[in-house]
Parts: sequence; C-alpha cells; structure tokens
Amino acid sequence: MLSSRLLTTLCAIAGDDGVIVRPHELRVYECDGYTLEKSAPDVVVLPRSTEQVSQILRLLDAEGIAFVPRGAGTGLSGGCLPLDAPVMIGTSRMKRIRSIDRVNRRAVVEAGVVNLSVSNAVKADGLLYAPDPSSQMACTIGGNVAENSGGPHTLKYGVTTNHVLGIELVLPSGEVVELGGAVEDVPGYDLTGLVVGSEGTFGIVTAATLRLIRQPEACTTLLAIFESVDDATATVSDIIAAGIVPAAIEMMDQLIVEAVEAAFRFGFPTDAGAVLIIELDGLAAGLPPQAEKITALCQTRRARSVRVARDDAERAALWKSRKRAFGAVGRLAPSYCTQDGVVPRTKLPEILQRILSIGRRYDLRIGNVFHAGDGNIHPILLFDERDEKQVERVLAAGREILEACVELGGSVTGEHGIGVEKIAQMPLLFSPDDLLIMSELRRVFDPHGRCNPGKIFPTPGACVETTRPHRRAAL
Ligand SMILES: Cc1cc2nc3c(=O)[nH]c(=O)nc-3n(C[C@H](O)[C@H](O)[C@H](O)COP(=O)(O)OP(=O)(O)OC[C@H]3O[C@@H](n4cnc5c(N)ncnc54)[C@H](O)[C@@H]3O)c2cc1C
Repeated sequence: MLSSRLLTTLCAIAGDDGVIVRPHELRVYECDGYTLEKSAPDVVVLPRSTEQVSQILRLLDAEGIAFVPRGAGTGLSGGCLPLDAPVMIGTSRMKRIRSIDRVNRRAVVEAGVVNLSVSNAVKADGLLYAPDPSSQMACTIGGNVAENSGGPHTLKYGVTTNHVLGIELVLPSGEVVELGGAVEDVPGYDLTGLVVGSEGTFGIVTAATLRLIRQPEACTTLLAIFESVDDATATVSDIIAAGIVPAAIEMMDQLIVEAVEAAFRFGFPTDAGAVLIIELDGLAAGLPPQAEKITALCQTRRARSVRVARDDAERAALWKSRKRAFGAVGRLAPSYCTQDGVVPRTKLPEILQRILSIGRRYDLRIGNVFHAGDGNIHPILLFDERDEKQVERVLAAGREILEACVELGGSVTGEHGIGVEKIAQMPLLFSPDDLLIMSELRRVFDPHGRCNPGKIFPTPGACVETTRPHRRAAL
C-alpha cells in the first residue's frame, strides 16, 4: 500500500490529473494486448516531461519502490504488466516531436509519440520513419524502442534498432543519460543498441533520435491467392532465393481472410487457402520486371491468381485489411492470444503444418497472419477466456508452438518480446550462464531490480510468484 505522502508528492510532480488511483480507472491498465494475465497497479503516473520522469524515479528510488514503464499498452507479451511493481509510469503524455532535421534526415521525438505520427509529420517532405508495426496507429516510440519492434516493411528496411541513433534514458536512480546521438557510429560501446529491445528493464526512455528515410519513388503491391498454405509459404522462400527483396511479404490464411473480409470487404476470396501481400518499392523503372518475376514464381507454385493493386486507393485498402487483421479476429471468438515466434524462412511450410496439428490436438482454432518474409509467425489462438480449460489448452498449445520454432532453428519471439509470457521458454535458447550474464547486465542499469521486475527472466531480488491478485500462467 503506497503512503498518502507519496501520492501527494506524485501529484505535486505530475499534477492531480497526472495521477490515477481510482480502482475503476486503474482497470484500464491491468494488462496489455496479452490478456491472459492481469494485475492493476496501485497508481499510474502520467508525466509530461523528462524532468518529471526524473523526479518521480528519484522519489521511488529513495523509497525503494518498484515501477513499470508503459506506452500505449499494445504489447503482446505482458511487458507492461505490473508484477510486484505498484507504480506504473505511462509516457503517453510525452508526445512532442522535439525537432526534425530534414536535411540530415533525423527526428528527435518523445517516448509517447505514436509511431505513425512520425511519418505523418515528415510526409510532406518526402520522408518516412520505416519501422511500421501493424499497431502503428496506436503504439508509441518508447514501446517500439523497448520491444525493438518490427513490422511488414522491416523485411527490407530492418527493425527499430536499425533506425534509432540515440536515446534519452532516465535510469531507475532518476539520473538522465544520453546514449548515442545524431551522428553515425558514436565511439565506445553501443549502449543505444543495448537499450533497444531491453523491454523496459533499464529505465524509462523519454526520447529517441530517429533515422528518417526517403519515401520510395514508387511502390507496386501484389495480391497472390493460393489454394494451400504450403504453396504460399514455399513461394516466400522462392522470391528471396531469386534475389528479390521486396519491401514486405505478408501472409494471411483462410481463417484470417474470412474475418478480414467480413470486416473490411476488400474482395478477398474466402475459399482460398492463403493469400500473400507482396510489396515492391524503389525506382519506378525497376519494379515491373520484378513484379513479373514474382508473378511467375507464384504461378509455378500454382497460385490461383496474382494481381497488382490498381492504384493508391486499392493499395491502401489492402494494407488496411492486413494491418487491422488482429482487430477483425474479434469476430471469430470472444478471446484470442497472438503468439510470436520465428523460423528460418524455408521452414515456414513445416511450422505451419506443425501449428495445424497442434491446433487439432488441443481442439483449438488457430489462424495465421504474419510477416512471412521475415519467417516471423503469428499464430492466433482463438478461445473463450471465461473457460479455464480453454485457457489451459491455449497456454499449452502456445508453448508447443514455440518449442517447435526452436526445434526448427528459430526463436521464441520475432518481435513481441519475452515479457511475462515467455519467461519459461528462455532456457530453450539460453544456458543458465547466458541468463546470469544477462541479469548482471541488467543490474548495471538497475542495481536494485526495481525497474519492471519479473520480466524476461526472474529479476534478482524480485519475486516472480507474487501476492498481487493477478492470474499467472502455470509456467
Ligand atoms: C494489433 C496489433 C498489431 C501489432 N503488430 C505488431 C507488429 O507488426 N510488429 C511488432 O513488433 N509489434 C506489433 N505489435 C505489438 C506492439 O504494438 C509493440 O510491441 C509496440 O512496440 C508496443 O508499444 P506500446 O507503446 O504499446 O508499448 P507498451 O505495450 O505500453 O509496452 C511494451 C513494453 O515496452 C516498455 N515500455 C513502454 N514504454 C517505455 C518507455 N518509454 N521506456 C521504457 N520502456 C517502455 C513496457 O514496460 C513494456 O515492457 C502489435 C500489437 C497489436 C495489438
């Protein structure tokens, strides 16, 4: 229980409207997009500046109180679940774009800036911010940095770490540090790279210096319809093996296409086994030959049809269907759990078969919509969270899917992070020594284990099993 003195001081720092304590308002913050575990914080603080974040962390440090950072709460691995951390610090009010350097193609933005707002702010200058998670209308740059987020176009352009040059970080002690900077190759250790993907365990990211790229001169977006998932996934490897690196290759299977079609009426055939959305970009003159080659490769794999989006409006409608696919899944079942694993691209047909058979064995419907070009799968397990038995089957099936990814030479997360969801799977990839070294590294930033405890691996000094009333998976 936090003292009223502490709450009064938090109000003095962040303002009365920046401190949330009413139980019904706190419920908004009890989980992220991974809804299988829930736990509301005792208080949510919404600072407006780096200075306020620093003051809050100094206060918590002096009192020995743990905290959890939160952006928009779109995470899919329970990263911002408040486990043994009574204070949640949300950066959603820190949404200033501090500066844009159009000539050097840099932007300094605060952590709460929504991903898509960066590209929107520089659109008129012919620039964009490349990492584009499908949640980009809502997720924040702070969350993207913490998760090293990817997106459809990261096949060609790389993930968040390839586009973050510098970070302003408030350490758990309250000290503000600047890592990296606006120039390439800052000497010394790559601490910026270390913070990207650290899942909010090193402190609160308050701002980031982002690399902007030029908008491509032209785009061609193809929609290829396949009778089977096998043919669609095999085509993905064929395209890359042919020496073509599209900007994006995304796949949706029949179950997802049905939901997306019902929601957005794009005109997808609901009887097809799978569809691929393949986007090429670059110089206009170079695209038609690549599109022809891709069409031929699809046809070799028995594609029912391949067509190019007629115009910008059709391209936008196609991407809207893909990027809002998770939302459309709400039509299929009361609850769903989005898994996230990665396999070498050539293993896509095999992992999809394994997912199918795991789904049958656990009597679960599983749809698939994913960044196929990266081998980054997102099986969506449909269930009803009010039924404990179904929840258990979902958790067990999810574990088997991740084990299969590792067996096939992949990993337990492609982009959503470990959070609370996948702590038990870390030993599939790392030895006890590896995990110890990572914990030691974390202690350099957070010596007392008070920043987002209970995530990635059990935090030294923090308790994974907690007395707080959240539901924890049987790990
Ligand atoms: C519909 C949908 C589609 C998605 N598509 C993609 C996709 O294509 N690619 C992808 O990679 N992910 C995707 N995601 C997952 C999610 O959107 C990303 O992980 C995103 O980066 C989370 O950002 P957020 O602001 O919501 O962070 P949150 O969910 O609030 O937090 C995520 C993690 O970051 C930490 N964190 C947040 N802000 C800060 C900060 N300022 N400083 C330090 N740590 C912080 C939190 O503690 C937590 O560990 C999707 C999610 C949804 C719901």
